[in-house]
Amino acid sequence: MNSASYECDVLIFGCGISGLWLLNSLSKAGYSVIALEAHSIGAGQTIACQGVIHSGLKYTCAHAPAKLGQHLAAMPAVWRHCLAGDGPLDLRGVSLRSRTNRFWSDEPLDAAIEAYAKQTGCSRSAEPVVDSGAGIPVASYSYRVDEPIFDVPSVLSALAEDYRERIWLYDPAELALLKGRDGAVTEVHLSRRRVRILPRTVILAAGAGIPFLRHRLNLNPLPIQLRPLDMVLLAGALPEVYGNYFRKGRQQVAITAVTSKLDQPVWLLGGDISEDRSYRSGSERIRGAGELLQEVIPGFQPHRFLWSTYFISRFEPAARSSARPDDATVVAETNVMTVWPAKFGLTPRLAEKVHALLPKPAGISSVLHRPGDVETPRVAPCPWDRFEWQHYDGAEFSAQSKGKTHAALSAGRW
Ligand SMILES: Cc1cc2nc3c(=O)[nH]c(=O)nc-3n(C[C@H](O)[C@H](O)[C@H](O)COP(=O)(O)OP(=O)(O)OC[C@H]3O[C@@H](n4cnc5c(N)ncnc54)[C@H](O)[C@@H]3O)c2cc1C
Repeated sequence: MNSASYECDVLIFGCGISGLWLLNSLSKAGYSVIALEAHSIGAGQTIACQGVIHSGLKYTCAHAPAKLGQHLAAMPAVWRHCLAGDGPLDLRGVSLRSRTNRFWSDEPLDAAIEAYAKQTGCSRSAEPVVDSGAGIPVASYSYRVDEPIFDVPSVLSALAEDYRERIWLYDPAELALLKGRDGAVTEVHLSRRRVRILPRTVILAAGAGIPFLRHRLNLNPLPIQLRPLDMVLLAGALPEVYGNYFRKGRQQVAITAVTSKLDQPVWLLGGDISEDRSYRSGSERIRGAGELLQEVIPGFQPHRFLWSTYFISRFEPAARSSARPDDATVVAETNVMTVWPAKFGLTPRLAEKVHALLPKPAGISSVLHRPGDVETPRVAPCPWDRFEWQHYDGAEFSAQSKGKTHAALSAGRW
């Protein structure tokens, strides 16, 4: 049986935020694009992420001004334009969890905010506010910061929606490639499905899958770094809170609220509490998080909630001068680009860099139908819907049924 052939301007590997954003923005610019996904949409870093469109201010407040901060400064406005339907992509159907973020601190952050404003021109990005109400860290200083927080699954669903025919689930084990004399990738075969793709450009946007793909493409390994995170989760009757708590110039904890598929409030805790490698177990880390929240939130009683942790590594190009990459990165070799956004929020900047390097569209028809035996992948399940919960004292929580879990979570009171 002959293979079915598909010609395209761009073949993207990976459908996290970078692959999906590129699929949308390149298609909108007239490129014919196919995206191959090995697992599920957003599996890996994107679905695990807190969805904050950082302005970069946190680096200045943490006494670690970074070049990355300067690039981030423009991003909240870009994403807001997308939400309003007049940005590089139309995200009007997407859910926003919060229009702003909070910075709480035991010491004034005014000097850091001023330094940040001078560096970036974002003078109105942070304003002092007086916070009151249950569930909010009581700090001497509180600021409202212009950083929208997105519901990540809704961003992924919206970006996949119009391109279902172009997002193909495949098994990397069936991948075979042909290269021309100049090293350019000329054909990509999905052998089991008898599909032959003829791309003009290949983009590797596969996060942790990039080393495998570069190996299959016979490209030299690129220096990469992993930054491990053990995110802490708590579930129960929690108020909707978004913010970063700073003490002595360190971001102790970053709180974002999400809702589980059982419609229960969950807090994700990032920042130092998730990065500290000195905790020897999940239970120890949970105790550390509970003690911190008890110190900063009046009346907080950790044993009233169910707790969990999930492990995920940030997967990035190795940073030379600081702990993190300075910018979104595109490495171009022959007709292959390897891309990392560095941050969820920086994806529009990554897309600009890719657009600048691509040859013009070849005028290949953008009407395309998925091969019959190729499925469109689903959006990955959220970590807070997958993980086992435990009581604060470390005892395992086993739910016999959804109803029981629901009742147990609802019982959590402030
Ligand atoms: C816990 C956590 C919290 C974060 N919070 C924030 C935040 O609040 N704000 C922010 O700006 N950034 C945040 N980040 C960073 C952000 O999540 C990442 O920079 C971004 O999601 C990376 O997206 P990506 O599409 O490049 O990679 P990924 O999200 O890792 O996506 C890679 C995709 O490629 C697929 N894939 C893997 N192997 C293959 C293969 N061989 N072939 C085809 N497909 C493959 C995967 O299944 C996946 O769909 C956070 C990161 C973590 C880990």
